[in-house]
Parts: sequence; structure tokens; C-alpha cells
Amino acid sequence: MAEQYLNYIDGKWRPAESGQWFENRNPANWDEVIGAFTRSDRRDVDRAVQVARKAFDEWRLMPAPHRGAIIKRAGDLMVERKELLARDMTREMGKVLAETRGDVQEGIDTAYYAAVEGRRLFSHTTPSELPNKMNLSFRMPIGVAGLITPWNFPMAIPTWKIFPALVCGNTVIFKPASDTPLTATHLVDILIEAGLPPGVINLVHGGGGAVGTAIVEHPDIDLISFTGSSVVGREINSRAGAQLKRVSLELGGKNAQIVMDDADLDLALEGVLWGAFGTTGQRCTATSRLILHEAIHDRFLDMLLAAISKLNIGDGLSEANHVGPLINQSQVEIVHGYVEIGQGEGARLLVGGHPLKEGDHAAGWFYSPTVFADVTPRMRIFQEEIFGPVLSVVRVKDFDEAVSVHNDCVYGLSSSIFTQDVNRVFRAVRDLEAGITYINGPTIGAECHMPFGGVKETGNGHREGGWSVYEFFSEIKTVYVDFSGKLQRAQIDNY
Ligand code: NAP
Repeated sequence: MAEQYLNYIDGKWRPAESGQWFENRNPANWDEVIGAFTRSDRRDVDRAVQVARKAFDEWRLMPAPHRGAIIKRAGDLMVERKELLARDMTREMGKVLAETRGDVQEGIDTAYYAAVEGRRLFSHTTPSELPNKMNLSFRMPIGVAGLITPWNFPMAIPTWKIFPALVCGNTVIFKPASDTPLTATHLVDILIEAGLPPGVINLVHGGGGAVGTAIVEHPDIDLISFTGSSVVGREINSRAGAQLKRVSLELGGKNAQIVMDDADLDLALEGVLWGAFGTTGQRCTATSRLILHEAIHDRFLDMLLAAISKLNIGDGLSEANHVGPLINQSQVEIVHGYVEIGQGEGARLLVGGHPLKEGDHAAGWFYSPTVFADVTPRMRIFQEEIFGPVLSVVRVKDFDEAVSVHNDCVYGLSSSIFTQDVNRVFRAVRDLEAGITYINGPTIGAECHMPFGGVKETGNGHREGGWSVYEFFSEIKTVYVDFSGKLQRAQIDNY
């Protein structure tokens, strides 16, 4: 019998009302059951919201530096448990240990940044247009935050949302992805041990359709922060928007690396290997489009194929492996479906293009790193998010064509260019339509103290990370203090 894991509501671990369970399995070895998790529905969400609303009354009054100190302790506990957290994360979602350690480190960095932000939460004071009067503004907590997260960064993304939400004085309903409930449980355990009072964080396990929808539609949840697919994001936006909730959406990507004729090709090669095949291509910032200048196109592809032949694919718990499995069987089918689409569209399959099922790969959802050449910009494999180890290569004649091919896409999360030419660098910074641009680096590598997010259909204009996420999780109270002792009418008495 697999170990059973519960919801955390009102300071207690409790089973869901349904009495049902769902399994979490290791994607590198589907015979291994990680645990059985309680399957919640609207009733559990209702209860969680009720207690979060009550807990808000006190939590909002705790001085923000004290709230930050609790998050600092959570960061310290994550440091102590980093290896255990990373190993459990690799078991439940597959990416290699170096990457799961990085994922936990991102959570630690976010904790320490959030702790300090508890002493800042800056706002503006301005002069008044009237004498003997002051104008101030304050960042106020909003209320109960509904946080819905994906499985690909099961520690980093929840901490990006939970820590700033709490430091700003909100209480939280947290629904993690069904594929990564164990890491979410570890994170909540850490927050409890760090001293978070009952009701301030509430963990509700269960499916997106039942639990996610109940959170989005709940009238007593004031804001929604969602990271996941564009399809679900759109639906959430319309449902939550109908109730005038504040909504932050971080959605899909189709990120490109551009390599110009003057690039350091060895560096660009390392970049694309890490960007395209790290996390088995299952990152919102993964490099899934490669735009090559025609002068280096053939040489670079030869280098790329030689490097791919040296990648070890296997269980992420082995330090010898570079690429782990896909998250589940349905993702294998989606990825393979796109490979067939690419072949049907006339792209040339250079390597990969099939699931790996033999030997060490027999019991996991492994897929071979795949590269398509002779791709044209309007092909579906160059336009749609695949979320797997599939790289599509387009050849261009110059910088202007590279930018135009890059921008011909509904998504706009991350972008990258490799070049030595300073003029091209600044034109790329200005002209690439993306929330993030890397110069001489891959499309991945976010740091917790910088804003993170995309333009176009990647989101709705908010940013996670850095100072900007504190703006999302708080709202401005404007205050006028008149110490003149008389009625002063703005715009009337001063003109
Ligand atoms: P997903 O299927 O959209 O799921 C994301 C979360 O939403 C999960 O917790 C899911 O629950 C829940 N959910 C599903 N249907 C829902 C509904 N109708 N209402 C409310 N919640 C619902 O995405 P995913 O497969 O986990 O993650 C991959 C996607 O996330 C990719 O598109 C990737 O680009 C994107 N992503 C974006 C960023 C970014 O910052 N831009 C970062 C990481 C990932 P269940 O797990 O129970 O289905």
C-alpha cells in the first residue's frame, strides 16, 4: 500500500471529503508509486477558503518584516533539506538531479529575496498641490489568493507565488499539479515548521477540473495566480474575469535561439543543447526553435548532431544521465503526434523522432532528442508549443530575417541571440518580441530577483519574480493628510 498524503487545511492534515485517492508515479519507472494523494473537490475548497478568509484578519496585521522572517526560516529549512527535496522531485517528475537541485535552489533564493522584501514593500510619497497637506501611498494586502501551479518546476514556481503572496499579507489556497503533489507537500511542511499560523496556507490536492475550477470560481477568493498552458489560462481568465478578480497568467512559450554568422559556435552549441533538451524540453522557456544564419547553418547542424549523440537519456537519479523522461504517457503521445505532423509538413527529421522503450528505458516515458531541419516558419512544429525534446531549425539569410521569423509567433516568453556584433545585440534587445532576451546565453536561466514573464499569448502582462510580483500581490491605498485645519478643495482653492 502506497503512503497516503492529505490536504492541509486550517492547520491540520485532513483527507478530502470524497474519500477518494489518486496515484503519483515515477515517470522514469512507472512501476514505482510515489504515493496516494487525497482527491479533493469543491467542498474541500470551500472549507479552505472559509479558514483562509478568517486567518486573513490576523495575518494582514502581522508586521511585514515578521512575515518575511517566517519565509526566511522556510528558506533555511530548504537549505538543510535541499538534497532530499531534489531527489524526491526527480522521482516524481523525472528531471535530472542537477536540475532538481537548481529548482530547489530557486525556491531558496526566492525565500531570501522575499524575506528582505518584507522590510521594503516600497511605495511612493509625493508633494501635495495644496499647502499643509501630505500625499502618501501604501501597499495593502488583498485577501485570499488562489495559486494554481504546473508540474515542471514543482518547487520554484509555487515559491514564486506563495512567498510574495504571504509577505504581502495575503492568505493562500495552493493547488499544485496532480503530477507533482509530493514536492508541494514538502513545501507546505516546511512552511508549517517555519512558523506559519494555521489557516494562512491551505493545500488542496486534486484535479484541475474539480479543484482548479472551484478555486477560480470561488467568490471569496480575491486573486488568482496561474502558471500553465495557454488553453487552461484562457479559460481561467474568462471565468475569474467575470467576477472581476485580479488574475496573473504565465502561459505557454515557443522560444527561439538565433545564431548569427559571427557567433561563437561552441558557446551557441552548449546553449542550444541546454535550452532544447534540458528538462526534456518541458520548460516554458525551452528552446524549441533554432534560427540559423545560412553561413553557419550546415556546420552548426553537424556540430549539434555530434553533440546529441553523446547525450545520455535515462533515470534522472543517475548523475551520468543528461536527459530524463517526459512527465507521462499522454505527453509522449503529444510529442510523437507533433513529430508525425512535422514529417507530414515536409520537414526533414535529422535525429530522434521516437519513444525509447528498450533496456533501461523500458519502464519509463523516455523520448529521443529530436531535430527537424528544412523547417519553414509557418509549419505547425515551428508555431505550436510541443513541450518535449523537439527542436525545429529554420535557415535565414540575415539579421532582419532572423528577427522577423522570430516574431512571427503568437507566443513571446524568452528569446536568445548569439552574435559578437554590438549593434545587432542592441537591435535584438529592442526588436525581439519577448518578455526575456538573453544575449550569448540560452533561452533559459531566470534569476529570482528579476521579473519573469512574456508578451503576446504567453500571459496577460503581469510578471512573476523580482519586485514586480509584489505589485501583483498587493494593492495601493492612497492617503491624503490635511493638517491645515481648514477645508482645502483640490483643483479649486489652489487655482
Ligand atoms: P496545465 O495543464 O495548464 O496545468 C497547470 C495547472 O492548472 C495544474 O495544476 C492543473 O491541474 C491546473 N488545471 C488544469 N485544468 C484546470 C482548469 N480547468 N481550471 C483550473 N486549473 C486547471 O499545464 P501543465 O501541463 O501542468 O504545464 C505545462 C504548461 O505550463 C506549458 O504550456 C508551459 O509552457 C506552461 N508553463 C508556463 C510557465 C510560464 O511562466 N510562462 C512556466 C511553466 C510552465 P492538474 O495537474 O490537476 O491537471
